[in-house]
Amino acid sequence: MKRRTLLKNMSLLPLAGGVAGTLLSTETKAAPAPKRDVLAELGLRTFINAAGTYTAMTASLMPAEVMEAFQQSASEFVMLDEVQDKVGAKIAAICHAEAAMVTAGCWSAIVLGTAGVLTGADAKKIATLPYPEANGLKSEVIIQKSHSVGYDHAVTNTGAKTILVETKEELEKAINDKTAMLWFLNKEAASGKIDHTTFLQVGRQHNIPVMIDIAADVPPVENLWKYNDMGFDLVCISGGKAMCGPQSTGILMGKKELVAAARLNGPPGGGNIGRGMKVNKEEIIAMYVALDNYVKRDHAKEWKMWEDQLAVIDNAVKNISGVTTGIVVPPVANHVPSLEISWNDNKIKLTKEEMGLKLRNGKPSIETVSWEKDNTIRVTVFMLKPGQDKIVANRIREELILASV
Ligand SMILES: *Cc1c(COP(=O)(O)O)cnc(C)c1O
Repeated sequence: MKRRTLLKNMSLLPLAGGVAGTLLSTETKAAPAPKRDVLAELGLRTFINAAGTYTAMTASLMPAEVMEAFQQSASEFVMLDEVQDKVGAKIAAICHAEAAMVTAGCWSAIVLGTAGVLTGADAKKIATLPYPEANGLKSEVIIQKSHSVGYDHAVTNTGAKTILVETKEELEKAINDKTAMLWFLNKEAASGKIDHTTFLQVGRQHNIPVMIDIAADVPPVENLWKYNDMGFDLVCISGGKAMCGPQSTGILMGKKELVAAARLNGPPGGGNIGRGMKVNKEEIIAMYVALDNYVKRDHAKEWKMWEDQLAVIDNAVKNISGVTTGIVVPPVANHVPSLEISWNDNKIKLTKEEMGLKLRNGKPSIETVSWEKDNTIRVTVFMLKPGQDKIVANRIREELILASV
């Protein structure tokens, strides 16, 4: 008995030692340890984004409120479909839509929305994509020729074929038994011969759903509901551009049955075309908070702030000999004020590419964009953090003066 008790106690010893060790290491950990800087650890270049919401530049930064929602929702399990139900209802109410879902970007909103139009809620049909035609589904989507600038590849991802038209007459002639949907790219509205209203009327007359891509078209904030109010059956928008939601998110909103069918073409279900377009609960919830946050912002005040920041940059460069500046505002898509800075190459020996590289390789690194015009860069401030306008102003001024002859 005695020996057994002794052995029992001994066997407890290493465990007791282990617990003590753990407690000790916890105490040590409580001392302020340097915070892990994973960006530095990976050797990643960070930069001031004076370019805009470019996908390659990781588009936008999530505000603290959005990050908090992201982090908080990461701590519990919930059912993915219930997250989409609840968040979808909130988004739909804000945007005057019957229903909504969070997708893996605007691109995925187009793919899933188109897929839903092709298949409806029929599981057998859902399993046939990307081969709608071979399986007897409607398989054609009509697009205006000038709207076919690359994003319509999201439509053809489903296996649907795009039919390009230019006039209302061509549109009506192109409609046949195989026509599944009409697709409109809002940012190219002015380049097409058929306007929103006419396009919608033709769709309605033939009982064909009409989808619109408004990916980068807030601001103005009203665009979040304008196209639902106009009667578009499906509206697709990016979440990670001006709304500052997660870069991987977007919204598909519109008619209830169509959004429901789109959801059936993606996760959590399997054996469908959208299974790889997963959006996690944190992203879905963060997207909702970003939208809510965006809608509640003082947009007039924000616009004024952008103008003030651009004035700081403008004032730093406009008096340099050979420099001309001007404010440009795209009428649709990234509808925010930008400053175009041009220089005369007789006075300033610098190409726009060299300027871009000098700003990128300087400290801190700054990204800008240059357009088709020579000796011209464009600076956008809506992605700047407070105070960065002055840094951008000084750096551009510095390079223009250094290159002055
Ligand atoms: C950005 C963009 C898309 C793609 O949106 P993501 O949210 O990046 O998937 C689609 N259409 C247009 C016009 C865009 O500008």
